[in-house]
Amino acid sequence: MKTRTVHVGNVLIGSGHPIVVQTMCNTHTSDVEATVAQCERLIQAGAQIIRITVPSLKDVPALQEIRKRVQADVPLVADIHFSAEVAMAVVPVVEKIRINPGNFHPKHEKARELFGEFLAKCKEYDRAIRIGLNHGSLGKYIVEKYGNTPQAMALAAMEWVEMCIEADFYNVVVSLKASNTVVMVQAYRELARLMQERGVVFPLHVGVTEAGNGDSGRIKSCVAISTLLSEGIGNTIRVSLTEPPENEIPVAQYLANRYGIPGQAVVIPDPDQASLLKAACDWGAPLLNHEVDDIPLEDEYLKDEIMQACRRRFYKPEYIACPGCGRTLYDLEDTFNKVKAATAHFKDVVIAVMGCIVNGPGEMADADYGYVGEGFGKVTLYKKKDPVLRHIPEDEAVEKLVELITADRAE
Ligand code: SF4
Repeated sequence: MKTRTVHVGNVLIGSGHPIVVQTMCNTHTSDVEATVAQCERLIQAGAQIIRITVPSLKDVPALQEIRKRVQADVPLVADIHFSAEVAMAVVPVVEKIRINPGNFHPKHEKARELFGEFLAKCKEYDRAIRIGLNHGSLGKYIVEKYGNTPQAMALAAMEWVEMCIEADFYNVVVSLKASNTVVMVQAYRELARLMQERGVVFPLHVGVTEAGNGDSGRIKSCVAISTLLSEGIGNTIRVSLTEPPENEIPVAQYLANRYGIPGQAVVIPDPDQASLLKAACDWGAPLLNHEVDDIPLEDEYLKDEIMQACRRRFYKPEYIACPGCGRTLYDLEDTFNKVKAATAHFKDVVIAVMGCIVNGPGEMADADYGYVGEGFGKVTLYKKKDPVLRHIPEDEAVEKLVELITADRAE
């Protein structure tokens, strides 16, 4: 799909440029040493753009210091949730800012006004932005106006896209992530269609959010991202894993090369993963598009994983887990593995494990149960969107989650 070209520092995204691989730090931004060290490892691994969360104004000086110390030709992106004030404060500091403008203010008109001011500042500093809307955190106004569907996500994004066009600001990337691969693929297709109809096509940042870890996380990302890339939708990608972010890069590189420049060698992360990634990419689109109902793989485990990633057959609980970021206040990966081990026997259930209480509950989308870290060794357990047990000590929380699900099943 022909798009406009966006420049993030000196990295070009869109039109005929190769697919750009990016990732995100999971260190605390206030810990400058750890964040700079992680950025260096990510650059070494092949990250072309790195995102860093900025939870509050007091983290801005740390971001400034990180920007000074990370090699200048690798653009940094500030990840902003909710605060227009923080978004404005980071514009002079980094090359790109990721925002969900609908969350700038509870009153929609005020959010629009703040977004207008933000765009003016980005224009002044020649910054790029990403309008990043996630399924599950669309905001009350959007859900009331458009519903909570892939079409709603695309329409919601178009409102902000229109504002950028009106402001004559074109250094814009858009994303519509979801953990549900069907929703995610439909949302991006719809947005691509709407932008083409509008005659202004911004590059798309494509990813499956809260994909989890291990084989499942890789397969979920591959089936959905490859489906879109094979249709020419997607210009920069992130493979989100609940693992050290370095692990995301080889998977993203595999995808970028496979759907990138014809003739360019496809990088295979390691021989063990080669067949897994290849099978997920080969069968993702046919399954998601309902062109086939089964796949001829001898490896039953791989077959089950791919079928579940495409939401065609569920053989185990569906897990949602965020990748963690500077807001995470506990060992997310370890906890997620414990939750998976303790709940593997349940069927037909969606279980979320989220790193923070600020965004976790909103981002859990359609989870039946949620394990959300509050910080300071405490956890809140959710049933759907409702917190049902608060401030549980971390070392009891997995057991309480199992009790909660078991009790519901017994009813
Ligand atoms: Fe970070 Fe996870 Fe919280 Fe999202 S939900 S802000 S990734 S800790």
